[in-house]
Amino acid sequence: MTDSIHTEPQAAAKRGYVYIAGAGPGDPELLTLKADRALREADVILFDDLVLPQMLEPYKAEKIYTGKRKDSHHFEQEEINQEIVRHALLGRTVVRLKGGDPFIFGRGGEEIDTLRQHGIDYEIIPGITAAHGASAYTEIPLTMRKVSSSVAFCTGHPISQIQAPDTDTIVYYMVASSVHDVLDAVAAKGRSGSTMVAVVQNATRYNQKIFTGTLDEFRKRERAVYSPALLIIGDNISQFIEQNWYSRKKKVLMTGDAPKKYTPADYITVPFPCQQVAGADLGAVKASIEGIDQFSVLFFQNRFAVRYFFKYLFEHGRDVRHLAHLTICASNRSAATELQEHGIIADCRLEAETPTSIGEMLRDQGLTGQRILLPGAEHVDELAAAQLREGGNEVTPLAVYVHGAQDHVEKIDLEFIDEIYFASADCVKKFREMYETVPPGILITPADERTAEEVRQQFGR
Ligand code: SAH
Repeated sequence: MTDSIHTEPQAAAKRGYVYIAGAGPGDPELLTLKADRALREADVILFDDLVLPQMLEPYKAEKIYTGKRKDSHHFEQEEINQEIVRHALLGRTVVRLKGGDPFIFGRGGEEIDTLRQHGIDYEIIPGITAAHGASAYTEIPLTMRKVSSSVAFCTGHPISQIQAPDTDTIVYYMVASSVHDVLDAVAAKGRSGSTMVAVVQNATRYNQKIFTGTLDEFRKRERAVYSPALLIIGDNISQFIEQNWYSRKKKVLMTGDAPKKYTPADYITVPFPCQQVAGADLGAVKASIEGIDQFSVLFFQNRFAVRYFFKYLFEHGRDVRHLAHLTICASNRSAATELQEHGIIADCRLEAETPTSIGEMLRDQGLTGQRILLPGAEHVDELAAAQLREGGNEVTPLAVYVHGAQDHVEKIDLEFIDEIYFASADCVKKFREMYETVPPGILITPADERTAEEVRQQFGR
């Protein structure tokens, strides 16, 4: 086929590109301009636990969470490496986004090893590491004339390998469960009991919290440390003041767009998404389901596409019998399995996803001149859509869910919040569902009279 003469050398050359990038410690403004550019270019973003999902909202790429949260799939490092490679080999631009800096306790080194082995092009974008964020946002300089002239970054994990180098300042990462072991190791090296110690939790985030004291005091304390936290040891901590530049700012929980008065000089804004994020384009869903007879092929890219498509099919009072005339295809095993659960054996399924496999499958099945319905996420997978269009097929993408919207809604710790800005009455209701009340110390600012009325109804104030 003339077609393959044109596409093959191209497909071989297009191997994708990987950015191993740091996201910084939390404050979204601490992302570098370069990381922002890479994220805008990305087809796929693989992100960690330490990356706040709100940071990813502006980017249209597919977002894959690779963290270790209990309620979701636990990715082992090897699996993450393979996932990066898989997307790159499909010709995609991949951003592997990590908290802080990728080369400070970030396993970036292991990931580039794998990329080198596969001959995949990559680059590394540094990030602001937690120690630098914590230092700036607590006003504790890591070095300072006459106080500290050397600093070391260490890890508190595993406990059996804790090091206590002889620098003036030591910053320990990964200490949530090992603070006392670290302090013991430092004391065993002969540091005086009056050496200053600080624990900084959630550095650069709205819920940043700091505890200070001496080595002796901390060793006696039974204090739980919540992750993510750093332990800083050294006399530079004497520079700490309660009322530092970051703690002086008011924290506002923002539902919807921020009105002008909340300037960054005075406020830290904490986003609270109150729009319904079910994500389907409900008008298009209705039209497609009612007009299902006009389509000849249904192509499911993944099991979420299957699950949400059937949810809407049933909601519109229909079932599998209305799909009897269609050729139904799945691009992987899990989508095919999900189809079976809905009583359908897929007519075709890809064995492995490669840049040309969808086109090949359609040719094998003789599927040309078809009208294909492609349920999926809100951002169309253009690579797949382009292959489906080969052979004169007409493709109609249909958004049935939003990437990542189902997982990862972080509860806000209201203890840190000074003010809540309610953008609409719906936001008031959504807040009520999640938190029940507004604690008394928090100022409420409704956007307009109707919202104010809802606040009175829901919270009596
Ligand atoms: N690559 C990251 C570190 C990853 S290891 C970086 O350069 O910052 C994970 C550890 O980083 C956590 O256990 C914690 O010790 C530290 N950490 C990351 N973000 C933090 C934050 N916002 N506040 C305090 N510690 C943080």
